[in-house]
Formats: sequence, C-alpha cells, structure tokens
Amino acid sequence: MTLSTAGTYTGKVAFVTGAGSGIGRATAIAFAKAGASVTAVDISEKGLQETAALIEAFGGRVLTIPCDVTSSKGIKAALDKTVATFGGLDCAFNNAGIEQPVNKLKDIDEDLWDRVLAVNLKSVYLCMKHQIDIMLTNGGGAIVNTSSGAGVLAIQGQSAYCASKYGVTAISKCAALEHASQGIRVNALCPGIIDTDMISRFTGDTEQGRARVIAQEPIGRMGRPEEIANTVLWLCSEQAGFVTGHAMVIDGGQTAG
Ligand code: NAD
Repeated sequence: MTLSTAGTYTGKVAFVTGAGSGIGRATAIAFAKAGASVTAVDISEKGLQETAALIEAFGGRVLTIPCDVTSSKGIKAALDKTVATFGGLDCAFNNAGIEQPVNKLKDIDEDLWDRVLAVNLKSVYLCMKHQIDIMLTNGGGAIVNTSSGAGVLAIQGQSAYCASKYGVTAISKCAALEHASQGIRVNALCPGIIDTDMISRFTGDTEQGRARVIAQEPIGRMGRPEEIANTVLWLCSEQAGFVTGHAMVIDGGQTAG
C-alpha cells in the first residue's frame, strides 16, 4: 500500500539512486505519483527502463541516467542534468547499494571490501557533496540516505556491509549537523529485511532461505519496498521539518529487543 500523497510533491524535484530495482524503484514511483519530477539513477540501464515505463504509465515525469554511483564525475553530471532539465533539486534519496556474501572479516577478499565500501558508503559521500552545493544555492532541501539495520547493529559475517552502513549512518548525522541552520535536512534510513532482489540473491530465493530471514522479523514477514518509500516521502516532506540527523529504523521490530 502506498500512502496517499497525490500532489504533495507537485513542482518538486527528486533525485533517486538505485532506482532500477527494489526500494529505489518503489521510491522513484512514489515521488512521481506524489507529483515530483524524478531523476532515476542506476548502473542498470534495463532496470531504469523498467522503472521509467512504470512511471510513464501513469503520466509521471522521469529522467533516467545510467551511472555508477562510485563516480564523482558521473554523479555531478547527473545532478547538473537534473537541474538543467527540471530547474532545481529539492529531495535526494541516496540508496544504491550492494550486499556482501556472508563471510568472516578475516576471509573477506580485499577487492570485495573496497567495492562494498565504495558503492555503499563513498557514493553517499559523493552524492551529498554535490547535492549540498546545489541545495545551498537553491535555499535548502532534504536528503535521505539508505543505511540499514546493519548500520546500527553488528551482524556476524557482514563486516564490510556493516562498516559501510554504520558509515552511512555517521556521515548522514555529520552532514545534518553541518547544514541544519541552512535549510538542509539529512536523515538516514535503516530498513530491516525488505523483499527485494537483494534479499532474493541473499537467500538464494528458496522457501527455506526466505523462512530463515522472516524468522528474524518479530512482525512475521518481510517489509515491502513501498513501506520504505512511504517513509522517505515523509522524511522529505514539510511534516518532517524538525527531523534531521536521525537514523530511522523501519524493521518490523528486528532491532527492538
Ligand atoms: P536491489 O538490489 O533491489 O536494488 C539496488 C539497486 O542499486 C539496483 O538497481 C542496482 O543496479 C543498483 N546499484 C548497485 N550498484 C550500483 C552502482 N555502483 N551504481 C549505481 N547503481 C547501483 O536492492 P534493495 O534491497 O532495493 O537495496 C537498496 C538499498 O537498501 C541498498 O543500499 C541496500 O543496502 C539497502 N538495504 C536493503 C535491505 C533489504 O533487506 N532489501 C535492508 C537494509 C538496507
């Protein structure tokens, strides 16, 4: 179920990374349904095309930009194109990310460590770096970065992923403090287990694998991408005007006890 936000983002511009699948796709769609012009960024051109088709099917406005979010140049170019096309930047959802195969810290391949940290953490730094420059000249904005339950709690076999997501939580708070007085709000989002392609890969997409992760959820099911999208839209809205520097957990109770 998507929150009824029709029209609440009319005239606004939203920039979403990882928009070719899962949480990013659901959020790009939710922003467009709420009236925003949306820039959808992803490394997967196929994923972007599918997302664009879903948005265009209801008359939404979307610009797709294939880009590897670890490229500072690529992100800056995508943001410049967003401003040139839509006239500004109001909301950013820095969400692209990759999983880490379960492995002890001592056994993690060094190239894998670097890639997880680059895609999940450095990209968020790069996105915010360029977005904040634009928002400062535009009179403010709202940024939401995808951290994770693994960004507030340690998980065995996930040290690279946890390091990247704890990092996202930390830099979201740092940036929030640095720009709180300048009309820019920054928050981190910490989802629990959400039913996306990432979880399908993680569980091997078997009934057993799904049951194993559902067993970690007190609420008895996985979260839906649309439930994360609803929260992103709320965090970017004026209703959340006093919320900044927050790491919002949306996890069916997974980290409550
Ligand atoms: P997903 O695999 O469905 O989507 C991730 C998207 O990011 C894909 O479209 C992929 O192509 C894109 N991407 C990957 N590397 C990229 C790169 N270098 N440049 C540009 N795009 C790239 O996964 P998802 O579950 O929707 O994950 C979205 C975010 O949510 C990730 O940051 C993930 O770590 C986080 N997260 C997911 C869960 C979950 O249970 N699904 C839980 C907590 C946090």
